[in-house]
Order: sequence, then C-alpha cells, then structure tokens
Amino acid sequence: MNRRPFIKQLLHISGGTLLASQMPFLLSCKPFDSKEKLGIALVGLGNYATHQLAPAILETKHCYLAGIVTGTEAKEAVWMSKYNIKKENVYNYDNFDSIKDNPEIDIIYVVLPNSMHAEFTIRAAKAGKHVICEKPMATSVADCKKMNAACKAANKKLSIGYRLHFDPFNDQMMRLGQNKVYGNRMDINTDFSFTLNDPNSWRTKKKFAGGGPLMDLGIYCLQGCIYTFGELPTELRAKASTKNSALFKDVEGTMEWEMTFPSGKANCKTSYETPFASYLTAKTEKGTLELNPSFNYDGLSGSTPDGPMQVQNVNQQALQIDAFALNVLNDTNTIVSGEMGLRDLYLIEKIQESAAQNGKLIQLNDVPNYLDLRPLL
Ligand code: NAD
Repeated sequence: MNRRPFIKQLLHISGGTLLASQMPFLLSCKPFDSKEKLGIALVGLGNYATHQLAPAILETKHCYLAGIVTGTEAKEAVWMSKYNIKKENVYNYDNFDSIKDNPEIDIIYVVLPNSMHAEFTIRAAKAGKHVICEKPMATSVADCKKMNAACKAANKKLSIGYRLHFDPFNDQMMRLGQNKVYGNRMDINTDFSFTLNDPNSWRTKKKFAGGGPLMDLGIYCLQGCIYTFGELPTELRAKASTKNSALFKDVEGTMEWEMTFPSGKANCKTSYETPFASYLTAKTEKGTLELNPSFNYDGLSGSTPDGPMQVQNVNQQALQIDAFALNVLNDTNTIVSGEMGLRDLYLIEKIQESAAQNGKLIQLNDVPNYLDLRPLL
C-alpha cells in the first residue's frame, strides 16, 4: 500500500487545524448522564493545580471547578472568590471523607505529592467519586494495585493525568511510529530534565517522591518510548548517578536507562542536575521523527522526514479533563487508565532495581499489557 497520501494528510491536517474527528477522545456524543457539566474538586492546591489545572478547568466544556481540598486555610478564601466556589464545597484533609455526601462533586482530582496519591485516590473512591490522579500514579506497584481495586470495588472510574495523550504532536508521533510509516525499525533517544535547586522540595525526598527525576520527569520518556513504538519493552538496564549528594541525599540526581523493544532500542535520560531538556527523537529507516520540545505544556514542535508536523498546540489539560468527563458521562473507558499507571510503575521499579544493581540487565517477561494504540488516519 502506498502510504504517502495518508502521511501527507496526517501532516497537513486541514491546514494545521486539528479536527475533533481526528482525535477520537475529543468526540462528544450527547452524554447519557443527565448532568451536562460535572463538578471537579482539586485535592492539593500547589503549583500544578494553581497554575495549570484550575485555569484549564475553566476551558473545559463538560466540567467546572466545584470544590477544593486543602490543608492551608489561607488558600480557602482566595480560591472561593477566584473560582466562585461555595463554602460547603471546601474541605481539608481531615474532613475530606464527608465529600461523599456532596452531590455537586463528581470527580476528585488528586494533585498531591506522589506518596499521597494512593491514600487520597482510595478515599475518593470510597466516597463514591470518580478520580483523576496525577502522575506518577503512586510510588509502588503495590499501591497502584490497591488504587485500581478500590475504584473497581466502588464502581468508579480512575484515570491518570497523562496529558500528552491529548496533545496533537505526541498523537502524531504515536500514529507515525506505531504504524511503522518510516520503516519497521526505530531507535529512540529521549531526555526530560531540569535543574532543581530547592532543598526543601518534596521532590528531593524519597518518602514523598518515591524516587528522583525518574518518577517526576523520566516517566514521560518512558511513556514516550512505549507510545511511539506502540510496544512493550522486553529488557532494560539502568544507571543512577548524583553530582550534588548534599541536595539529593536519598533520591538519584540523574537516571539513564536503555530499553529494548521488538522494533528497536531506546536510550533515555532524566535529571534534576542538568540544564533543561525535553525531546524525543526516533531514528527510522527513512529519516528522523522528532519532538523538541516534546513534553512541555505548550510550544511543542515536531518534524518528520516529510517536513514539520502541521498541527497546533492545545490546552492539553483541558482536553484531558474533558475526555475523562465524557468517559464518566457516556460510561466509556479512559485511554489513560489505572492499568496504564500501574504498567509504568512496574517499569519504574524495574529501572530502579537495575540501577541498584549497577546496571544489571533485567528481562521484562510480565509487563502489564496495556497500550494506547492509534491507527494511521
Ligand atoms: P507542589 O509542591 O507545588 O504542590 C503540592 C501540594 O500538596 C501543595 O499544595 C502542598 O501544600 C500539598 N501538600 C499536602 N501535604 C503535603 C506534604 N506532606 N508535603 C508537601 N506538600 C503537601 O507540587 P506540584 O508540582 O503541584 O505536584 C503535585 C503533583 O502533580 C505531583 O504528583 C506531580 O508529579 C504532579 N504534576 C503533574 C504535572 C503534569 O504535567 N501532569 C505537572 C506538575 C506536577
């Protein structure tokens, strides 16, 4: 089959505008549920909730910011006034469970330090609410299993805040890579790093972060490799290193790892100790596919052997949240599920295991088989 016309179509989607029909998770059929807009409560009002998620909720079609859960009393009045939130929809970490009696809250969005994701996701499910949990899903596979079980037992949906599955540049990478448009073999290089200097950040503490930049940033590289190949890795080896051991006492400053996939190799790096980097490059048999930057909220850029990707940046978080609202309203499955979150924690644990054993090669025989596969348009 001559795929060039399809590729051309893919690269020049209606002159650069992405159509909803080309991103199936954006398709909004009439919701079956009688509620047209779902109420979201954000748990943890830190940087990501304040500067990205709350403004993004304003941009959604199917949600509104109905409530907040915070341990900082001073934030309550500010948020109530800014987002028109009712006093009775404001909770703290102690009275959080009484949210079960609040019919205005449909979805709880957990945006706390990583080690707190499991507790609050499980409490939210027990309160009878659907949950979006930020990445990484948890700090262990064992916790991911408990979270999935709690949501299943409560018959509530769970999705992970993997915003890049809703980004058109990463979507193109998935479609072109997975469908082997530029050949059967690919070799990937990817890095997501920034310099972290704050000694008080929970990100430097294993108890809260579960690990170093791998948990926070490297998870994007891991995801990027899997969704570009559309395959699971078969073996990996990893090396951790730290330059500033006064700052990074119990997590690594840098993690580098290699993975073998059925269709090629991947070299990955993530660091809190090197200058900002955010790219994913796939060398194919017919040239290079590249996203640079690849993992940012905005300003993404991509190229293929046939030229620049002609799609546009979007509000990733708004699309991610709306897609989940439609999953709830139409009783459909999320593409970024708790099973996907568990798969990634499984691989993160294997990377940590290899690094702890000086780069021992680890065979991956039972990776949870969960993939976001997309056809060529
Ligand atoms: P942050 O430190 O800015 O916010 C954390 C919030 O948790 C704060 O409001 C803090 O008060 C609260 N908190 C409650 N108990 C705490 C405790 N014991 N220690 C520290 N903080 C406590 O962090 P953030 O950057 O907003 O990250 C929060 C979560 O969101 C993390 O899991 C992170 O991985 C995720 N995140 C995701 C993205 C993304 O692009 N999807 C981007 C940034 C952060």
